[in-house]
Amino acid sequence: MAKIAFIGLGNMGGPMARNLLKAGHAVAAFDLNKAAVEGLVAAGATAADSPSAAASGAEVVVSMLPAGAHVKSVHAGEGGVIDSVAKGSLLIDCSTIDVATAREVIAVADKAGVDMVDAPVSGGVGGAEAGTLTFMVGGSDQAFARALPILEAMGKTIVHAGGPGNGQAAKICNNMLLGISMIGTCEAFALAEKLGLDHQKLFDISSKSSGQCWSMTTYCPVPGPVPTSPANRDYQPGFAVAMMLKDLKLAQEAAAKAGAAIPMGNQATSLYTLFDAAGKSGVDFSGIIEMLRGKM
Ligand code: NAD
Repeated sequence: MAKIAFIGLGNMGGPMARNLLKAGHAVAAFDLNKAAVEGLVAAGATAADSPSAAASGAEVVVSMLPAGAHVKSVHAGEGGVIDSVAKGSLLIDCSTIDVATAREVIAVADKAGVDMVDAPVSGGVGGAEAGTLTFMVGGSDQAFARALPILEAMGKTIVHAGGPGNGQAAKICNNMLLGISMIGTCEAFALAEKLGLDHQKLFDISSKSSGQCWSMTTYCPVPGPVPTSPANRDYQPGFAVAMMLKDLKLAQEAAAKAGAAIPMGNQATSLYTLFDAAGKSGVDFSGIIEMLRGKM
């Protein structure tokens, strides 16, 4: 069992750290929010009062932070994790951040003789609690092999996506596609309504035809055809608009840097920006069907 420092104990990091404790690892916990640290101490962790205090003495450091700036300052900032861990340690950043920052921080770790992977997740708070997250991992073969047993305590599907930053690349490509496909699915249902075509009939046909996609068959944006989808509970998330918008903006940023054309991704970003600005940040992203119906 490993000595692990866990930094960032929010909605995702809290339950992920609990699963590491359940698997028998020793966890030193740090968050700017003291109540989050106390919660984890009650579950068996020890409290640390800085990233550096958590990291010194740890064999592995896991972080789950809001954005690239936090990851950069916690890991690569002066007196941060990379300055504090022993050579040969392993760092696993599970936050969703921009590809460029992920690659920059991993290069700093590499220079210091520390293995590091970017390992963003899919599966949300439910997956974090159940230990069934999907991890998309970027880093060297050696770093991935070392991270695997730690990630297995928090997730079910773990894919090595390639070199440093490729976990983030996989995450934003997937979520950009999801944003686009959800808007397309919503448009199809909104058009069906105008044409007098029943939701269930469109679902029965489209879910078995060439329009079939996850947004239709697993996360259907109208109530009825898929009882577990957020449409059946007034679009409570699920996956909130603010989260989708964050990932779409990361895709735009990466595409601009890489010179990739993403016209549909840009359109999806604009539509989710409008929906977000209408006060819908906390609504599930499939709720955008309301805007497409012109009902808000
Ligand atoms: P959150 O806001 O609930 O948690 C972030 C935590 O980081 C907070 O507790 C905050 O106090 C802490 N923090 C911020 N700066 C810090 C610092 N410098 N040092 C120590 N702690 C610091 O966010 P979350 O929902 O847990 O999401 C975390 C990451 O996971 C984000 O990158 C998000 O995009 C990604 N993600 C979230 C979900 C989800 O459903 N919530 C799903 C997939 C991926």
